[in-house]
Amino acid sequence: MENLIIIGSGPAAHTAAIYAGRAKLNPLMFEGFNAGGVAAGGQLTTTTEVENYPGFPEGISGPKLMVKMREQSVKCGARIETVTIDKVDLSKRPFKVFAGSKTLETKALILATGATAKRLNIPGEEKLWQKGVSACAVCDGALPIFRNKVLVVIGGGDTAVEESTFLTKYGSKVVVLVRRDVLRASKAMQERMKQNPKLEIMWNTEAKEISGNKSVEAVKIINNKTKKETTVAAGGLFYAIGHTPNTAFLNGQLELDETGYIKTNSGTTYTSVEGVFAAGDVQDKRYRQAVTAAGTGCMAALEAEKFLSEHSS
Ligand code: FAD
Ligand code: NDP
Repeated sequence: MENLIIIGSGPAAHTAAIYAGRAKLNPLMFEGFNAGGVAAGGQLTTTTEVENYPGFPEGISGPKLMVKMREQSVKCGARIETVTIDKVDLSKRPFKVFAGSKTLETKALILATGATAKRLNIPGEEKLWQKGVSACAVCDGALPIFRNKVLVVIGGGDTAVEESTFLTKYGSKVVVLVRRDVLRASKAMQERMKQNPKLEIMWNTEAKEISGNKSVEAVKIINNKTKKETTVAAGGLFYAIGHTPNTAFLNGQLELDETGYIKTNSGTTYTSVEGVFAAGDVQDKRYRQAVTAAGTGCMAALEAEKFLSEHSS
């Protein structure tokens, strides 16, 4: 019987493993094998430089940061298996975790399986990914390649409004492509957008292709009403079309919100099942940063430790 199993491999899972390891809980982590199409280590393995994670004034590459976190988890006493968990049984304690052909029992469980940013998979995207194409303006917007360029944002939700407003600090102009003739974003956010002279919205517009040699140079767009195609000369393209939380494997056993994120009690990592804790992007659709994921990973380990000490019998 395990004390604590951690599922996931991003900053939340590793921070939880470091704290739980140091607390002598002997945690077992399942880091996944290309779970959801993302390598063990999570979303940061898909990026280049991370410049906003404290402790690295010169920046650090995303994959390297995750290798370091993994080393620290192991050093602190976590055991790590490269297996994707596709089923759990949370109906009673101890919980069951199905790992390939093995079934494990655990007294407590931390879920830190993250979320995956949605992409459009249009021509040019793969070639120019992280060379001007990004799914995180807050992470990448301040990079020199975007300075004083026309930047394109796709989406009409709160994220699109928030990120396009953020990008006006760096770009000469920000063009937001909205596929319908209304925004999904809240009224308050829409008002803020209207007052920003550097923002332009193109309604009923979708991106068809991204072009550029070494980095993004232009985006081909289409008005889906008139079918007219044009090209916008731009130095960057940011997707803000939503994320998919990695919660399908829970099979409805925990309370999720209407978009599939795990619900936690405000200010804690407690889920709807006692003894199951959730940390990182899988329960956070607002901040979605490595450092906030790490923060909630720490909270989950401390809360799991308290839970285990209270239920030691
Ligand atoms: P994730 O990083 O989402 O990792 C979870 C991982 O768990 C999954 O990827 C998978 O490998 C594994 N997993 C999933 N399901 C299972 C399963 N069933 N079994 C086993 N394993 C599983 N944030 C910043 O602060 N600074 C940045 O510069 C920055 N740049 C970014 C650039 C890009 C391109 C992207 C996409 C994101 C960026 N972010 C950045 C956001 C940051 O990566 C996330 O907020 C952070 O990684 C979330 O961490 P997490 O621990 O919740 O899990
Ligand atoms: P949303 O799902 O709310 O919005 C996604 C947007 O992308 C929609 O406008 C959608 O269009 C558009 N979209 C989706 N797929 C495509 C596609 N294939 N092509 C073009 N456009 C597409 O995601 P968000 O990330 O904006 O927000 C997620 C949640 O987080 C929301 O609940 C939001 O309120 C919350 N949030 C709150 C913030 C805050 O309060 N400060 C900040 C950020 C997020 P359509 O409308 O036509 O479906």
